[in-house]
Amino acid sequence: MAAADFDFDIVIIGGGIHGAGVAQAAAAGGYSVCLLEAQALASGTSSRSSKLIHGGLRYLESGQFSLVHECLQERRLLLQLSPALVRLQPFHIPVYQDSRRRPWQLQLGLSLYHLLGGFSRDCAFRRLPHHLWDSLDGLETHGLQQVFQYQDAQTDDVALTRAVMKSAVTLGSHLLMPARLSMRSG
Ligand SMILES: Cc1cc2nc3c(=O)[nH]c(=O)nc-3n(C[C@H](O)[C@H](O)[C@H](O)COP(=O)(O)OP(=O)(O)OC[C@H]3O[C@@H](n4cnc5c(N)ncnc54)[C@H](O)[C@@H]3O)c2cc1C
Repeated sequence: MAAADFDFDIVIIGGGIHGAGVAQAAAAGGYSVCLLEAQALASGTSSRSSKLIHGGLRYLESGQFSLVHECLQERRLLLQLSPALVRLQPFHIPVYQDSRRRPWQLQLGLSLYHLLGGFSRDCAFRRLPHHLWDSLDGLETHGLQQVFQYQDAQTDDVALTRAVMKSAVTLGSHLLMPARLSMRSG
């Protein structure tokens, strides 16, 4: 079908998580949308992520508190909307005698994280009791002072991208695939 046969408010290039998300939001907002994907949905970096829907813990160090708050809100929304695709996973931060960050710094950071997440359960943390340290596979216990446990969320990035695009299509978006946008000079 020739490109001239189409007339859309918005044309999106690329069916990664960003393109799929924009298509979903635009279609939900009443715009007519067409997304072009050259290969397959999530064939780019959206299939090579660390599979985390993280709450932005690392942004605390650079003082980006509103970003952490936003990350935690978005994460909670995804946990509620897509429980089959986004689930909580425990993470452990070991602190050794020679670790750069001291236990009090992690306690402070994780407390702030809990506060920015509205003290909800998914942002809670704890110091793992000493008798449970051995239950953590592969953990080096020599020089270990503390182990903090908190939660982050994990996803299947390909399945999430496909699910968002499916929702966009249900809302009226068009998906052309394979279809590559090429620019010709002259
Ligand atoms: C190792 C790693 C770990 C990461 N970890 C995380 C994480 O934990 N949490 C997180 O949120 N983010 C993470 N990210 C970042 C996240 O994966 C990217 O920000 C996201 O996938 C980018 O999505 P995108 O839709 O912009 O791009 P892409 O997924 O790369 O999609 C671009 C698409 O455009 C298509 N395309 C390109 N050119 C054309 C054309 N001319 N015509 C038609 N289609 C075209 C490609 O085929 C591709 O499918 C990580 C990234 C990496 C690499």
